[in-house]
Amino acid sequence: MSSSKASSPPALHSNLEPVPVSGCLICGAAARHREAIRPLGNTVGVHNMNGIIRQHPHRVTDGEGVAA
Ligand SMILES: [Zn+2]
Repeated sequence: MSSSKASSPPALHSNLEPVPVSGCLICGAAARHREAIRPLGNTVGVHNMNGIIRQHPHRVTDGEGVAA
């Protein structure tokens, strides 16, 4: 019995926050709002902003670049 993986911490995937896409106004606004409310302890608001960024289609105007 090797204890190599005995005490592995749980995966903190929820800690990984989505990165706003450069050039996307919606993402930029959400990211700025997220950083603004984070020091206030508004974890629900931060989570909501993360959801907006993660679920946003990130369409940069109407040209190329539907970067999912
Ligand atoms: Zn976006």
